[in-house]
Amino acid sequence: MNRRYRKTVIAGNWKMNMTASETKKFAEEMKKIMPRVKWCETLICVPSCNIPAATKAFKDLRISVGAENVYFEGRGAYTGEISAEMLKDLGVKYVIVGHSERRQYFCETDAVVNKKVHAVLDAGMTPIICVGESLEQRETGITSEWIALQVKGALHGVAADKLRRCIIAYEPIWAIGTGKTATAEQAGEVCSNIRATIRSLYGARIARSVTIQYGGSMNPKNAAELLSQPDIDGGLIGGASLKPDQFLEIINAANQD
Ligand code: PEP
Repeated sequence: MNRRYRKTVIAGNWKMNMTASETKKFAEEMKKIMPRVKWCETLICVPSCNIPAATKAFKDLRISVGAENVYFEGRGAYTGEISAEMLKDLGVKYVIVGHSERRQYFCETDAVVNKKVHAVLDAGMTPIICVGESLEQRETGITSEWIALQVKGALHGVAADKLRRCIIAYEPIWAIGTGKTATAEQAGEVCSNIRATIRSLYGARIARSVTIQYGGSMNPKNAAELLSQPDIDGGLIGGASLKPDQFLEIINAANQD
């Protein structure tokens, strides 16, 4: 983390978990244990149908509500989809874009991810842009080229003033939901390569200001070490964000003086 230049952001990703009543219960548990968060922003991305329930439940918690997905068109005949304006109207500030599960199960390409990034930015929200390599790509030694391509693809056409609002989440696919975490060194190296890619596109001053998260089996045991890497400015947390005590410990790791 480097708080001098950029925000530390701890974000939960609930995926397709938690009903509206479970959301309320989670918030009640969090209220009992939530510390005064001084040094990091905290948010949870919830299933779209639970955004109003989460907004109400998290109101006194200083946990913002994010969405897990968005469609890039503004409106029209796209049955089942949700636009950026609709999310914005519900008070959403953050939207996950390009999560590997969406790339894998819903065939999202870099071009689609780029259109979604623009839609989220144009609506005044922050995209949390996920990039990451498969185990095969890591073992073949093409991780840095692959991630640089994903970053460049996602940011194509994004103006410098809007980039400041973007968060990049490095999520190695082999570490998501598997219990296998990248070592702090592996994660730190890729995150600093991501910053170097941004630097090559936008210059040093802007690159320095962009929050880059790590995601992939982050938990109370490994959070502090991962966050001690200079280019890791927070976490995108799946499984551990469903459990108030575990999520709290990760927030605490990011909230140290
Ligand atoms: C994720 O889905 O973004 C994620 C990082 O999941 P987990 O923490 O469960 O690996």
